[in-house]
Amino acid sequence: MRNEAPAPHQWQLAREAQDGRSAARSSRKDGLASSPETPPPDQRKLAEIVAYEIEQQIVAQGWPVGILLGSEPELIERFGVSRAVLRESVRILENHTTARMRRGPGGGLIVTEPLTTALIRPVALYLEYCRVTPEQIIETGTILELAGVELAAERINEEGILTLRECLEVERKASMEGLPSMARIHVTIAELSGNPVLPLFVKMLTELEDARMKRHREGSAAVVSMVGHDAHAAIVDAVVRGDGALARHRMSRHLSDLSSSVL
Ligand SMILES: [Zn+2]
Repeated sequence: MRNEAPAPHQWQLAREAQDGRSAARSSRKDGLASSPETPPPDQRKLAEIVAYEIEQQIVAQGWPVGILLGSEPELIERFGVSRAVLRESVRILENHTTARMRRGPGGGLIVTEPLTTALIRPVALYLEYCRVTPEQIIETGTILELAGVELAAERINEEGILTLRECLEVERKASMEGLPSMARIHVTIAELSGNPVLPLFVKMLTELEDARMKRHREGSAAVVSMVGHDAHAAIVDAVVRGDGALARHRMSRHLSDLSSSVL
C-alpha cells in the first residue's frame, strides 16, 4: 500500500496560498463570499487540484470501482478545504465520470467506471476547433482499424470468437429492422486487439463520423448498413480463422467502400 499523505501536496500549497489571501481579505466563510455554483477563481483552482489528487489516489489504488473514498465531512477534513471547494471538486470528478457523490446515510464519494462519452465531447469540440475534415477523420480511423483488426486476428481466443459472433447477430437483427447499428463491430474488433488505446480512439472517431453523417447525410445510414453487414461477416470470418493479413485486407476494402460512400 502506498503512503497516502506525502507532504507537501499540490493542494496543500494551493490551500495555504488561498488561506493567506482569504485572511487578508476578510474572515467570511466561503459560502458567503460567493454563490456555491460559481466559486471565485482561487477556489476553483483549489477544487481542481483536490479533484486531481483524488483521481491520482484512485489510480494508485488500482481503480476500485464502487469503493467509498469517504463521506463529505471526512473529505473536507482530509483535504482541509471548505464545503464549497469540496463540492466543486466533486462536480469536476462527476464531469470526468471518475467518481460520484452518493447521498443519504452511508453515502459519500464513490469510485465509478469512467465513461468514454465524457471524453468524446471535448475531443470532438477540439477537432472542430482544428477544422478537422471528414477525410482526416477517416484517414486516422483507417490506420487504427487496420492495426486493430490484424492484432485481433493474431490474439483471438474462444471468448473473443463468441463476442464477435454475438455482435454480428445483434447487427443482423438490427439491419433487418432497418436500424443502423454498424459501428459496434468496429469497436469490438478494436477491443479484441488487446490494446485498450485502439478501441478508445476507434470509438471516438466512429462517433465523430456518425455525428457528421447525421448532420449532413440524413437517411443514408440504412443503405450503408445493408452492404456493411456482409462485409463485417467476412472480416469476422478472417479474424476467427486467425488470418491477420486477410482480415486486414477485408477491413481495408470495407473502409474504402465506406469512405467512398460517405465522402
Ligand atoms: Zn463497417
